[in-house]
Amino acid sequence: MSSCLFCKILAGEISATRVYEDERLIAFNDINPQAPMHVLVVPKQHIATLNDLAGDDDDLVGAMVRAAAKIARDRGHDGPGYRTVFNCNAQAGQTVFHIHLHVLGGRVMTWPPG
Ligand code: AMP
Ligand code: ZN
Repeated sequence: MSSCLFCKILAGEISATRVYEDERLIAFNDINPQAPMHVLVVPKQHIATLNDLAGDDDDLVGAMVRAAAKIARDRGHDGPGYRTVFNCNAQAGQTVFHIHLHVLGGRVMTWPPG
């Protein structure tokens, strides 16, 4: 999707600090971090929102969650804890319409989220 910000990062047209990559995913630091660790796990395939997932995507979403857990573990956040968030559509605060899993750690998280 040529107009999609995350597709542009995937294509190398916009720079980002990549922290993980495999055949299906990349992860990079959020440009506006909300915690000492704030990484976005992004599939290479353009999928606009969680509402657009199909059964065929179950493996992909599982890989996203496992990548998030690996990134958190590699930084020592597995023991203290970390948070993963998918925002879906406007009321939840989704601003980039290419699915991404936020991975936040390194501080105490409050609940409920804002
Ligand atoms: P969401 O609001 O859930 O759609 O999350 C989008 C996230 O993308 C926000 O946390 C932004 O700070 C982040 N973001 C926007 N532009 C960039 C960029 N160029 N590089 C890295 N992260 C970005
Ligand atoms: Zn995209």
